[in-house]
Amino acid sequence: MYFVKAFAILFAPIIAVSAFACFMTVPAAVSSPETVTVVIDAGHGGIDGGVTGKTSGVKEADINLEVAKKIKKLFDSAGVKAVMTRETSAGLYGALSKGFKLRDLQARVKIADDVYADAFISVHMNNCGDDARRGAQVYFKPESEKSKLLAESLSKSISALKGSARDCQTVAGDYYVLNNSSCPAVICECGFLSNAEDEALLQSDDYLESIAYAVFSGAIDFLAEKTSEYRAPAA
Ligand SMILES: [Zn+2]
Repeated sequence: MYFVKAFAILFAPIIAVSAFACFMTVPAAVSSPETVTVVIDAGHGGIDGGVTGKTSGVKEADINLEVAKKIKKLFDSAGVKAVMTRETSAGLYGALSKGFKLRDLQARVKIADDVYADAFISVHMNNCGDDARRGAQVYFKPESEKSKLLAESLSKSISALKGSARDCQTVAGDYYVLNNSSCPAVICECGFLSNAEDEALLQSDDYLESIAYAVFSGAIDFLAEKTSEYRAPAA
């Protein structure tokens, strides 16, 4: 017996194509986008600013939020429900007391569980002692095939950006939000704030628009695969 989810709804969000973009392909169709929920997680917040820009001192938490908001806007325009874990600079830990970091991470996972998310995308910026290191990386949960597929889809899309330093890497990661999410989850590290060129790019609104679109586009490709399992077989 097959479930026939009514009709595929095609959409092609229209965005201003920035100097960094080379897109390329319109994201694949998602069958009934209104039935899909994506959680966009802007990493860190509050007392936890994440890593800081080596030259500018910019806070990772602030850039994460900017990118997350841009990704949400794209999902909104595509008719896909997107839920943000935070929409302000505040963290999710409540009172600043012992165990705040764990409470913060638990709250993020709970938001995804509460909305029965189909995908969880955590947005971060990276840091490395080797300041020559550049580019994006997407982490997945090692034992989850779907998490890996989502990560690969995002990586492929980010690698197509003109401004990216090199191909985006897909890496297995041992992180709380990956290990504890019920849905396919990834952590997208958009670039290194320890590298001067990446740091400059990550403060360019044009580049942030482009990377947001790449994340959105990669996620849609993954979700189109996922929803295709509900489609009726060809007669
Ligand atoms: Zn981070």
